[in-house]
Amino acid sequence: MDYYTHIQKEDPDIYGFIEGEEKRQIEGLELIPSENYVSLAVREAMASTLTNKYSEGYPGKRYYGGQEFTDKVELLAIERAKQLFGAKYANVQPLGGANANIALYMALMEPGDTILGMDLSHGGHLTHGHPVTYISKIFNFVRYKMKNIETGEIDYDALRETAKKEKPKVILAGFSAYPRELEWQKIADIAKEVGAYAVADVAHIAGLIAGGAQKNPFDYGFDVMTTTTHKTLRGPRGGMIVTRENEEVAKKIDKAVFPGLQGGPHMHQIAAKAISFREALQPSFKTYAAKVVQNASAMAEVFKAGGVRMITGGTSNHLILADVFGSLGISGQDAEKILDEAGITLNKNTIADDVRKPMDPSGIRFGTPAMTTRGFGVEESKQVAELMLDVLQKRDAATVSKAREAVKALAASHPIPESFV
Ligand SMILES: *Cc1c(COP(=O)(O)O)cnc(C)c1O
Repeated sequence: MDYYTHIQKEDPDIYGFIEGEEKRQIEGLELIPSENYVSLAVREAMASTLTNKYSEGYPGKRYYGGQEFTDKVELLAIERAKQLFGAKYANVQPLGGANANIALYMALMEPGDTILGMDLSHGGHLTHGHPVTYISKIFNFVRYKMKNIETGEIDYDALRETAKKEKPKVILAGFSAYPRELEWQKIADIAKEVGAYAVADVAHIAGLIAGGAQKNPFDYGFDVMTTTTHKTLRGPRGGMIVTRENEEVAKKIDKAVFPGLQGGPHMHQIAAKAISFREALQPSFKTYAAKVVQNASAMAEVFKAGGVRMITGGTSNHLILADVFGSLGISGQDAEKILDEAGITLNKNTIADDVRKPMDPSGIRFGTPAMTTRGFGVEESKQVAELMLDVLQKRDAATVSKAREAVKALAASHPIPESFV
C-alpha cells in the first residue's frame, strides 16, 4: 500500500475504501469471468499525468495543441492492437465495451435499421438491445438462439432464416454468458449471403483469441470486432474496435466514436491499453490463455461429476454457467451469497429458458481468467470447484468456515502478480 500515500494523507475516507477493496482482492478468490488483475505497469499508466491532457480527435488531427506525446501513445496502442488481432485498423478510444458497441451501431446503421444478435437469455449482453437500454429504442434488434441448451449448439438454420427475412444491416456474434465457441464461418457466410456486416463482440474472449486459445473471427471473414480491454485481455477498464480490412468501415467507426459518441479520449487509459497489449503479445500470454481454458474445463469436470447441470453441458472457453437451482435446489442469488461468505466471488445469472426471475435466477456464472492470472493450475482449479460444490450442497456454517480457511490459504499461496513480462 505505498502507492497511495497522498490519498492516505489527504482523503482518509477514500483511502480506507481502497484499502478495503485491495484486501478483499488479495484474500478472496475472484471467479467473476469478466474480471482480472492488471499489472502494476498498467496501473501506473492509469495513474499517470496523461489524465490531465485533452486530445479530442485522432493522432495528427487533434482539436488542441500539445499532442507530441499523446499522438505517440495512441499510435503505439493502435499498432499493437492491430498486431494482436491481425487487423488493418483499430480505434482504441472507446471508454468501455458498451461505448464500443454503441459507436459500432452508429457507424454501420441508421436509426430504425435492424441488427441480428444473440438472444439475451441465451448469453447475449445488455448492449445487444436489452429493453432497458436506450439503444434498443433506436435500432431494431432481432434474435438468434441456441438450438440445444444441453450442447450449446446455435440454431444456425433459424439464424439464416431470420437474416433472410429481416435483412439486418449487422449480424452481431458475441456473448457474456455462453461457454462454447461460435462457428464463425457459418455466421460470416450468412452475413455475406444477406449483405450484412459480420461483427463479433469478443468482449469476454478477446484475450483467448489474442493468446491463440480460441479462433479469431477475422480468419473466418468477420469484418469488425468490438471488445473490452479489461476482461480476458487483462488490460485497463476500456473498450476498442478493430476492423479487419475495410477502410471505409474503419473511417465510419472513427467518426462514430469521436465526435459521434464521445468527447476527449482518456489518454492515461490508452497508454495503459498499449502496455497491456504489449504484455498480451508476449509468448507467456499464449500460455496464460491456454491455461484459462484448461482450468475452466477442470472445474466443469468437477461440477459434472457432482451432478450439476451446466448450460451447454460444460465449457470450451473461460466460463461456466451452472443450473444450481435445478441441480442443487439453491437459487443463483443464495448461491452467490453463501459462496461470498466463503471468500469466493461470482455472480448469479439467468440460464436459458430460466424458470425463475432475473433478479433471483437459477444459475451462477463463474470463470477462470483472474484465478489463472494468480497462477492457479488444474489441481487448484479442481480444488476450488470442490470447495464450491461442498458449500452449495451442505450450506452449513461449519462447511462455509472450512471453505473460507481453504480459500484464504489458496489465495495466500498465490499472490496477485505485479508483472507479466
Ligand atoms: C462486458 C461486455 C460488454 C460491455 O463492456 P463494459 O466495459 O462493461 O461497457 C459488451 N459486450 C459484451 C459481450 C460484454 O461481455
